[in-house]
Amino acid sequence: MGEAIFGKVLINGKIRLKTGLHIGAQTEAIEIGGVDNPILKDPNTGDPYIPGSSLKGKMRNLFEKAMSADQPPEKRGRGENKWFNREIGDVYIHACNTLEDAVKCPVCRLFGISGKERGDKNYPSRTIFRDAHLCNKDELEEVIEIKYETAIDRITSAANPRPMERVVPGAEFEFEIVYNIENENEKKEDIKNLVNLMKMLEDDYLGGSGSRGYGKVEVKITRIVERPKDYYLNEGAEIKLLNKEDGVRPEEALNQILK
Ligand SMILES: [Zn+2]
Repeated sequence: MGEAIFGKVLINGKIRLKTGLHIGAQTEAIEIGGVDNPILKDPNTGDPYIPGSSLKGKMRNLFEKAMSADQPPEKRGRGENKWFNREIGDVYIHACNTLEDAVKCPVCRLFGISGKERGDKNYPSRTIFRDAHLCNKDELEEVIEIKYETAIDRITSAANPRPMERVVPGAEFEFEIVYNIENENEKKEDIKNLVNLMKMLEDDYLGGSGSRGYGKVEVKITRIVERPKDYYLNEGAEIKLLNKEDGVRPEEALNQILK
């Protein structure tokens, strides 16, 4: 993987929050006297954003779980010879161990994997997820709200309200996913998987506290464009596969580009 680029496909659109979103800032970024659970903000504008890594991580995780369901029962689950075979920190991810396997694997070729041991080769991802920036600040009275979450102390049963920062529902973020065409024969399947994962994301959540209702999103795709390598090197034309200013649902986008 990563040896040839025949072109690129760009997927653009908007992620609209249906419920409050909490993507936590790193602890060292917490200001003294600030709230307990601050959200990640762009240091230049102070506005919240969705890091490309969050979006990529979530979509990879959803894809891994969906593919795990296709494995024989003895392969499902976590551990050395299971589908979720790679321990990273306190989580397991799926990662093919050889380049031959990774190229054939719809998950690994889209999202890439790092080598197992130090010095092993990395298999670079075919996709780049840009940070998604807030794009409708003018429409919002407030961008950030403080929600008090009541944590019940399991031992004393005392209620302990903790302030949580959240981005308000209604906020919209512009995203861009860049897909590198490394194999023309796999392009359609890879793009289809990416768009379908956005559909799956809508019935899941972004950020933290999803099981408590945070991070429900709606995805609108505004543009899908294919740029063959000649677009860059020989002033070739780009191919507009989809171009809708107001955006369309992921399934409608797929209908358009696969017909
Ligand atoms: Zn794999």
